[in-house]
Amino acid sequence: MSELAEILGKDRIAYFSMEIALAKNIPTYSGGLGILAGDTIRSSAELNLPLVGISLVNSSGYFLQRLDENGMQSEEAQNWSPSEHMELLGAEATVLVERRDVKVKGWLYEHRSFTGGMIPVIFLDTDVEGNSRQDREITRYLYGGDERYRLMQELILGTGGVRLLEKLGFSIMKYHMNEGHSSFLTLELLQRYGGDEDQVRRTCVFTTHTPVASGHDTFPFEMVEGVVNDPGQMELLRKFGESEGRLNMTVLALNLSGHVNGVAKRHKEVSEQMFPGYKFNSITNGVHSYTWVCPQFRELYDRYIPGWANEPELLVRVRNIPNGEIWRAHRDAKKELIDYVNREKGIGLSHDVLTIGFGRRMAEYKRPAFVFSDLKRLRKVNDAGRIQFIFAGKAHPRDERGKEIIREIFGYMHELRESVKIVFLENYDMDLALKMIAGVDVWLNTPKQPYEASGTSGMKASHNGVVNFSVLDGWWIEGCVPGVTGYAIGPAPGMERSPEEAESMELDDLYYKLEYVIIPEYYNRRDEWINIMKNSIGMIAYYFNTHRMMRRYVTETYF
Ligand SMILES: *Cc1c(COP(=O)(O)O)cnc(C)c1O
Repeated sequence: MSELAEILGKDRIAYFSMEIALAKNIPTYSGGLGILAGDTIRSSAELNLPLVGISLVNSSGYFLQRLDENGMQSEEAQNWSPSEHMELLGAEATVLVERRDVKVKGWLYEHRSFTGGMIPVIFLDTDVEGNSRQDREITRYLYGGDERYRLMQELILGTGGVRLLEKLGFSIMKYHMNEGHSSFLTLELLQRYGGDEDQVRRTCVFTTHTPVASGHDTFPFEMVEGVVNDPGQMELLRKFGESEGRLNMTVLALNLSGHVNGVAKRHKEVSEQMFPGYKFNSITNGVHSYTWVCPQFRELYDRYIPGWANEPELLVRVRNIPNGEIWRAHRDAKKELIDYVNREKGIGLSHDVLTIGFGRRMAEYKRPAFVFSDLKRLRKVNDAGRIQFIFAGKAHPRDERGKEIIREIFGYMHELRESVKIVFLENYDMDLALKMIAGVDVWLNTPKQPYEASGTSGMKASHNGVVNFSVLDGWWIEGCVPGVTGYAIGPAPGMERSPEEAESMELDDLYYKLEYVIIPEYYNRRDEWINIMKNSIGMIAYYFNTHRMMRRYVTETYF
């Protein structure tokens, strides 16, 4: 039976996100943003915070990835049945889209924690009888369709979300927009509060997630006019959301939120340059510790650091775990991954070779093929001490460059087949991510500065004693103590240099450190290596988790 009745009427924080990753068989997410939203829900439940999550049902999921022998990606719908995992709520809301009243229903998922906390998550769905066939599809494809389709989705999320919460009887004290997709909600509140913008600002918290310009949704006003179809709302949208002649969802949220957050310290600075005149705070992202620790390390932590899961700060006591135990747990996790890869791909990866992992969305700014920029040097590295690679990641269906990068990696795979083993796994998702992140020796991250706002997969690596080797961008600027908690690739940001100079310095450093630092330490000075593994746990994981992040959101933005 639903516990919803018990929590209605008590003040809650409504957490809006276009994607939320709750479980493998609820494929309503595409990458880091959705994982962060899921980790937010998971930590909030354990901390007994009064949150309610709002998202779209995305009933055809993101997509299933197929790769042919050349790395050519094709996509299939990832249909799933909300009714198998969630309960249909009785209430419905209505949103005017173009000239039609579109009905919005909600599915309730109750996320329960071992501490007894429960966070309701409501998935909005326009597949309702009475809606036109076209309107029934609005909540179907995550990041699918064209610009107009996206605009309709955002209208349903922001406006429909606020209305459905009210219909259900929720009492909302704060609205938290996880990215600008939901910022139509500010407009709904503005009308509700009789135009009192200060009251809207007191009620709204906004987290922005990317310095990549295309990551900020904008729409031409003629299109918005056709979809919103309300002169009063248009006036407000022009007043609060206009930027360079278009409706900018980030600007709308910035103008009507009392608290604005960047997701790492560096991201706050970059955001202030991108949006001059606005004040940003920074609460650096985290990951949900228990979710992102593999079974082998959970068992170890349970034995030596009881209570760690709901108090990840305790991981600072990792020194109590003997080196041999750390190494055994890691070796077991690595064996599981390597055996899995060999079963799937028949490639014969070795259990004893230094294994480097790279898994994330295949987007150009993340430079997934960076390590293959100079094959001669990579071969030289491999002569100094053997290495092997495991890659995974989806390219957005319309991102031709992202798809091309996957094909390039397949090309290098072929070219290097006599010396360096490389494998690319399909369908990177939460389960594969944990298996990979816990099972490799080094987690590689080579984004182009300053475009990685935070990044979270490296935090997951640290939770499993896996060593980060990353460009100094996003969270890693805060997490990296060179040679102590992991390794930096290239110089710290801030100095005046051209992108070409930066790239060549990074490349040089990447090969140099692999050959002269990482390989000798991994193969010849195992105890020093295990020390870095322990520092990853005791100096990174203890801090870069969503328990700490949510406590900060509570004290700095919600109350
Ligand atoms: C953690 C995670 C991400 C985010 O990885 P980044 O390196 O931060 O981009 C993306 N996809 C999945 C499935 C993840 O688990």
